[in-house]
Amino acid sequence: MEEAAVSKIIGANLAGIRGRVEAAAREAGRTADAVSLVAVSKTQPAEAVRAALDAGQRVFGENRMQEVLAKFPALRLEFPDLVLHLIGPLQTNKVKDVVAHCDVIETLDRPRLAEALAREMERSGRRLPCLIEVNTGEEPQKAGVLPAAADDFIGDCRDRLGLAIEGLMCIPPENEEPALHFALLREIARRNGLTTLSMGMSADFETAIRFGATHVRVGTAIFGARRVAALTQSAAE
Ligand SMILES: *Cc1c(COP(=O)(O)O)cnc(C)c1O
Repeated sequence: MEEAAVSKIIGANLAGIRGRVEAAAREAGRTADAVSLVAVSKTQPAEAVRAALDAGQRVFGENRMQEVLAKFPALRLEFPDLVLHLIGPLQTNKVKDVVAHCDVIETLDRPRLAEALAREMERSGRRLPCLIEVNTGEEPQKAGVLPAAADDFIGDCRDRLGLAIEGLMCIPPENEEPALHFALLREIARRNGLTTLSMGMSADFETAIRFGATHVRVGTAIFGARRVAALTQSAAE
């Protein structure tokens, strides 16, 4: 497919998702701007990110630092108001790059990482807002603090390490009713005085908004994997 056609599709998808986000917010009795759309551009080429930028999108999510470094430094020069969320697992040996190249960390999930981030933020003077990932489904293969350990971890990050903890993030188990997980995340945030909730993806972001999501992370519904494979190909030709 032509690059121009792909850009048009991404623009149209974005407009559709924005409309649905605003409608879901209004239905939940919230203002349309109460929910921020994080466009998840992982595995998508820089051209797809640019198409979204051209359509007015500014907040993006990536899950691997390798992709962040390959795509975003150049785009940032053109779009200085771009905001990049790290939404994937973070190794402690990557904290320097993360603090330098991302704007929000959504996947803070363990004390050693919290300590490494606190040190690097102190050293660099870049104090990034962080969300703590909670493993609401208590899935052994998944990252995130367990719900029972969340209060202590939040307190430790805030009080001992002085991190800017703004809220919580979760990825519900695939075959369960996501609403139960969204409700649990909201309750943990409420009792800890946290206001940011990153929850909801392409399949369930409207439910997440009903449960108080302030950030929804939407990938395939915007970028549609197959179309972007075509874009990669045409860019390489
Ligand atoms: C990939 C990913 C998303 C986006 O998922 P879609 O189903 O493509 O919308 C959201 N959050 C995280 C953490 C992801 O890794």
